[in-house]
Amino acid sequence: MCQRTSGLVPAHLARHDVRCEHPDCVVPMCVMHQRAFEAGHLDLLRYLEPRWRQEIAHTVMHVGLITAYRRLTAGRFPSVAPSRD
Ligand SMILES: [Zn+2]
Ligand SMILES: [Zn+2]
Repeated sequence: MCQRTSGLVPAHLARHDVRCEHPDCVVPMCVMHQRAFEAGHLDLLRYLEPRWRQEIAHTVMHVGLITAYRRLTAGRFPSVAPSRD
């Protein structure tokens, strides 16, 4: 998502206090994005889908679906499609 290949740091998707060595626990991103994500300002999910689905699933395993969703979208809730019937 960063259009870069150097200077990337691993960002823990679930929580940085989670002690987990699994490779799916982290996604590489630049320091700027990592800071924004940790501060809760980055809507990361749009960049993670569909390439980083393994990592998303791993995050859900750690913190549950709702917490993972809110964390990866900076607190947004899914938009509800208007009912067609
Ligand atoms: Zn970046
Ligand atoms: Zn993990």
